[in-house]
Amino acid sequence: MVHHNSSKKVVILGGGIGGMIAAYKLSLTGFNVCLIESKSILGGLSTTIKLEDCYFDLGPHAFHVQIERAVNEVKDILKDELGTSFFNSEVYFMNKYMAHPLTLKDVLLSIKPSLAAESIFDFIKARVANKIEKKVDASFTDWVTNRFGKKLHDIYFGSYTQKVWGRDPKNLTSTFASARIPVTSLGEVMRKMVFGSLFEKKDGHSHSPYGRKFYYPKKEGIGRLISVLKDKLEALGVEIHLDSHVRNIIMDGKKVKKVICRYPNAEKTIECDYLLSTIPINDLVKSVRPLVGEKILKSSDKLNYRGLVLLFLIVNKDRITKNNWINFSQPDIIFNRLYETKNFSEDAAPPGKTGICLEVTCDKGDKLWNMPADELYKICEKDLEKSNFLNPKDISYYSSEKIEHGYTIYEKGYEDHLVNLIEYFDNIENLITFGRQGLFTYTNMDHSVDMAISAADYLQHPENFKTKIRAKDLFHNYILSY
Ligand SMILES: Cc1cc2nc3c(=O)[nH]c(=O)nc-3n(C[C@H](O)[C@H](O)[C@H](O)COP(=O)(O)OP(=O)(O)OC[C@H]3O[C@@H](n4cnc5c(N)ncnc54)[C@H](O)[C@@H]3O)c2cc1C
Repeated sequence: MVHHNSSKKVVILGGGIGGMIAAYKLSLTGFNVCLIESKSILGGLSTTIKLEDCYFDLGPHAFHVQIERAVNEVKDILKDELGTSFFNSEVYFMNKYMAHPLTLKDVLLSIKPSLAAESIFDFIKARVANKIEKKVDASFTDWVTNRFGKKLHDIYFGSYTQKVWGRDPKNLTSTFASARIPVTSLGEVMRKMVFGSLFEKKDGHSHSPYGRKFYYPKKEGIGRLISVLKDKLEALGVEIHLDSHVRNIIMDGKKVKKVICRYPNAEKTIECDYLLSTIPINDLVKSVRPLVGEKILKSSDKLNYRGLVLLFLIVNKDRITKNNWINFSQPDIIFNRLYETKNFSEDAAPPGKTGICLEVTCDKGDKLWNMPADELYKICEKDLEKSNFLNPKDISYYSSEKIEHGYTIYEKGYEDHLVNLIEYFDNIENLITFGRQGLFTYTNMDHSVDMAISAADYLQHPENFKTKIRAKDLFHNYILSY
């Protein structure tokens, strides 16, 4: 291999799948790569932990099939270790398990007839009103009520959103709703009340993954992808710094000159020609020296993340459901989703056992975040029984894990703040911020892999690009087309 880039040093911040793929692609073409990760292991959100003899991802991690370039990259890394599977999922709504995607017919049949009548009336009223005069979608609530009516918002969309994001849907943007809930014509929805899915788009592309194919490592969870990649990075001579927290980015005019990292007992300065960052964009901006302007700093405090507490259970049953996951929309159930590990790969738990992971969303530092695992387990135990999911007597083991940057919260006004940060970084000549945290987005692994390939491609062949890869363009491509 010709190492024509060996004199160029690239520092990559964040050792999740995005940072690792960028490190891999760049080191393959001879760049001198240094990967900085604050945790003691690589993988970021795409991590698998082994508890007793069972494997658990940090929330279910299926590799989606839509982005061909990202899929090919993963196929190339895992070769015949990559398996294929098909999604099954359900929703627990009004004390019943229903097929996902939820049909309007199921929703209406599961609620009181008077409520169903009110929902249909509200729905028609909203559609007619929106036809006469186009309503403004200033919030998530507006977007849903303008299309589906107030009742459907209150009994399903709004209450589930409130539960997952912990925010009044009136204070969340409509962008999130429009990206996640497809609009269908009145006739279409009415037809689907009888025959089909409320969540399916006219063109047949569904926002629900139900029945769709996905890729997943045959053994050891999504973490297998990370461990094979880690071996490759080590073989290619990538400098991997674990337990290394990015402290400062030192600027020289419009270029990053060096990065200062804090280790448990030391500090280190690393010079760089290029900086790729996948750490939270608001943390990155705060680390810049000299300090960025007041307006940008203030914006960085306005971007908030929803945290997650995951409760892992080992159950003495060979399998509980056929579902990859089940959403729990009711506010009286503490978890909003659970997933069964064996439905991703048979290897996740030995025969006679299965793994269940409960996802509880919360804000870092709140009551749920600080709740001791035993206390949370007791609540979950009751809710698992109440929802007829399993008999707690069959649970042989539990433990919990916290995730600080689980989901981005799209609060009203967030776009302006994010644009302030993105514009700042887009003006730095040798820095690209990308990935789920690097762009403050609600994207998947395939998006991070694809962005990493683009960033590496730019560094390898800048002559093929009119401008530097900009966060603004990445955001547009991956979020707005989502
Ligand atoms: C519950 C849940 C379920 C999901 N399910 C799926 C799924 O089914 N399919 C799918 O494709 N995607 C799924 N995702 C999304 C997927 O996990 C992410 O899109 C992907 O892992 C993001 O990779 P990344 O490298 O961009 O970011 P991350 O994985 O977040 O990596 C960023 C890294 O930066 C490190 N870091 C942060 N700050 C610093 C610092 N100051 N210094 C040094 N390092 C730092 C972090 O420790 C982390 O390792 C899910 C996410 C969640 C939360």
